Amino acid sequence: MVHLSNEFNCEDALKDGSYWMPFTANRHVRKQAGSRIISSAKGAYYYTPDGKKLFDTLSGLWCTPLGHAVPRIVEALKNQAEELDYCSSFQMAHPVAVRLAKRLAYMAPENLNHVFFANSGTEAVDTALKLALGYHRLRGEGGRFRMIGRERAYHGVGFGGISVGGIVSNRKMFAAGMLNGVDHLRHTYDHSKMAFSKGQPTWGADYAEDLERLVALHDASTIAAVIVEPVQGSTGVVVPPVGYLERLREICTKHGILLIFDEVITGFGRMGENFASRRFNVKPDMITFAKAVTNGIVPMGGVLISKDIYETFMTGPEEAIEFAHGYTYSGHPIAAAVSHAVLDIMEEDSLLTHVRGLEPVLEKAVHSLSDLPGVRDVRNFGLTAGIDLVPEADSPGKRGSALFELGMQNGLLLRCTGDTFSLAPPFIATEEQVLDMVETLRRLIITVT
Ligand code: PLP
Repeated sequence: MVHLSNEFNCEDALKDGSYWMPFTANRHVRKQAGSRIISSAKGAYYYTPDGKKLFDTLSGLWCTPLGHAVPRIVEALKNQAEELDYCSSFQMAHPVAVRLAKRLAYMAPENLNHVFFANSGTEAVDTALKLALGYHRLRGEGGRFRMIGRERAYHGVGFGGISVGGIVSNRKMFAAGMLNGVDHLRHTYDHSKMAFSKGQPTWGADYAEDLERLVALHDASTIAAVIVEPVQGSTGVVVPPVGYLERLREICTKHGILLIFDEVITGFGRMGENFASRRFNVKPDMITFAKAVTNGIVPMGGVLISKDIYETFMTGPEEAIEFAHGYTYSGHPIAAAVSHAVLDIMEEDSLLTHVRGLEPVLEKAVHSLSDLPGVRDVRNFGLTAGIDLVPEADSPGKRGSALFELGMQNGLLLRCTGDTFSLAPPFIATEEQVLDMVETLRRLIITVT
């Protein structure tokens, strides 16, 4: 057995590549390992080993809206670890998860009364897709096997999620493992028609008619479900045009197709409501969630499910397992206890109200960047915004990388994908912190463009 020396040095170890970092340009990062280590976090800031303080512009990966090291959440975690650290959820129940299921169902749109727990967004999406297939099969419509996703969508990295996902770089290497028969709606972004939209673009509801075209092409009898993020997050905050989600709902209902909203990013307050479906007043048949449900402190994900789907499964012999699916850590007691603490804080500190108050502050601030010659587009909705930089000729992505590096040197931990970056500040941020973030960005954008 190899023993680590007492002299362990993270920077050196990172350079040797033993740690293969996810969604990372590993060789590039290894070269600059010293500047890529975060050693602690508190509130809205991360800290590097050499004491640099970085504002958390994306709330982790959209998952830490209450900030870091929140004492009450840490305490809930410790207490639960002492009381019941683990118990299988297969054939056994523990109170903390049962209560959480009730609580989440109460928060969700009223048609979604049942919760199936997973541990991540990826698992939540797989679970929802399997539920959709099972639902139709149990109703004697096993021919409905097709899933409809959307271009630019991110639904995690399982084979289910990449099949319905629409980010080419996440799919092309793995085409051999994709689900059969998946098709995609077009994404709803058109720079020529909706650049610099504040909130929902008023143009583009007709994109929903793509679904009618896919129904005409494949026939409704082969289509199980449509899955969309109400607001596409990972692809740089693409906000649905006014009327688009409503129309998708109508078409799904008309053809007996299930509608799944992937609310892994939009759930738990980011849209100023518990769920985006509440904000848009569109009721899907399932909602997938993860991330902020535990404020990122431990993993948890899950699916909120309609009564109709639940009851369709609750048939057959009573001794038989109705849905042959689940994870060792489904409904993990520590994750559930943490989630209760998160939801308590959101309620008691009226964080949804705070988010709704910050939304116009962020909107005004980010749109004040629109006049910079290096900015190609600015979009916003809820407490999030996406900004596209004008790419450098022949070197797309270079400006995004440069902005990220400059951010690290100037107190911002940014999330850039190509030349696009997204902002999703913590809900606990003050107006001043939001404005400071945008003012720093203004300087940095001017520098890199
Ligand atoms: N779905 C959406 C909409 C997401 O944004 C993400 C992650 O960003 C996922 C699914 C996957 O979640 P996870 O990384 O927890 O598997």
